[in-house]
Amino acid sequence: DREHAPVVIIGTGLAGYNLAREFRKQDDETPLILLTSDDGRAYSKPMLSTGFTRDTSADDLAQQDAGTMGQQLKASVWTRTHVSEIDTARQVIKVGDEQTEIHYGKLVLALGAQVIQPPIGGDGLDLVYSVNDLLDYDDFRTAVAKNNVKKVCIIGGGLIGCEFTNDLLNGGFEVEAVDPLAYCLPTLLPETAGKAVQAALEAKGAKFHFGPLVTEVNKAEQGVSVILNNGSTLSADLVVSAVGVRPRIDLAKASGIATNRGVVTNRLLETSAANVYALGDCAEVEGQVLVYVAPLMAAVKALGKTLAGQPTEVVYPAMPVTIKTPACPVVVAPPAAGAAGEWKVAADGNNVRAEYRDAGGALLGFALTGEATRAKLELQKELPPILP
Ligand code: FAD
Repeated sequence: DREHAPVVIIGTGLAGYNLAREFRKQDDETPLILLTSDDGRAYSKPMLSTGFTRDTSADDLAQQDAGTMGQQLKASVWTRTHVSEIDTARQVIKVGDEQTEIHYGKLVLALGAQVIQPPIGGDGLDLVYSVNDLLDYDDFRTAVAKNNVKKVCIIGGGLIGCEFTNDLLNGGFEVEAVDPLAYCLPTLLPETAGKAVQAALEAKGAKFHFGPLVTEVNKAEQGVSVILNNGSTLSADLVVSAVGVRPRIDLAKASGIATNRGVVTNRLLETSAANVYALGDCAEVEGQVLVYVAPLMAAVKALGKTLAGQPTEVVYPAMPVTIKTPACPVVVAPPAAGAAGEWKVAADGNNVRAEYRDAGGALLGFALTGEATRAKLELQKELPPILP
């Protein structure tokens, strides 16, 4: 009977595990199952881009294994288990090669986001790494050690690319980064702020190539040669691809659940299918795709109650994002897409305070670098909530 049918959560990232914790605070009885295609170790994903600065291995970052998590959560945690299908009419999911069926009373998609693979040719692709989970991170660290890496080429000058640039510089590596746009963090920051980050990373030894695309990565006598579409070639021992992530929507889409950029939900985090919910990097909550920790923690609070029978809408306050580039710290609260206004920028060296205001003077977003990040709290108070 559906009253006692289990709550099933697909995904054991920050969204899946934190939701399970929140649910257990409200409901200690209902059977709880978590499934993950990885090994189910609990870890904090933002730590993946500070690993050389802090000198942390994958084992150091793993806080708990799946068995311990299961005990703490009074849950059964299925690891290395891929969910391939959701039958929303019968309320079952199909898992693994055997297509084992699991019945759910309520199902939560906490599937995360997948890395975007840029279309790159060449015979050196086995030396191109992307680091999007703890298993990737372990492979990357192993490859760096095994190949005696001294120089890394980073594809992408956005959030992950700049964090890895700073982290690898801190680890004593040489870094060259390539991005088709014009400066660091181009989709998040106005130009003056992005150039401040660039200048600070250059002062630490980074070399940037803005404008070209990487077209090929080929094996070289030592490491790889990276071919750009402006005719230049860089050499490196290893390549990190960091061109961005997109919500994992394939499973939902194939199962007839409404998707757009992410899995579409309302403010109760309900998808278009009865008793199926979504949160975290895979979700598009009332039009908002926010692939950061603060929004998923807000969603966890609401959905934990909803799953326990107390329907609760998610509230998103203003949630500025801190970018881990200690060479030039950044805090950014991007204005909503299409918000009418303009940037007002005050700069003093690499300390940039940029405020995005509408015609009436109301603050709609901001970007702060260097010492100007001290204004974060003051400006955050002035911002409107994302979902009031
Ligand atoms: P994930 O952690 O990706 O979890 C997805 C889970 O779903 C995994 O367990 C996976 O195995 C499982 N899964 C997917 N598909 C299936 C399937 N079909 N069957 C079974 N299991 C499946 N955010 C910040 O706010 N601040 C930061 O400083 C910051 N730094 C970051 C640094 C890096 C290097 C990266 C990559 C991201 C960073 N982020 C940061 C973003 C933040 O880490 C993510 O928003 C957050 O971790 C997403 O959690 P999640 O649980 O939604 O997804």
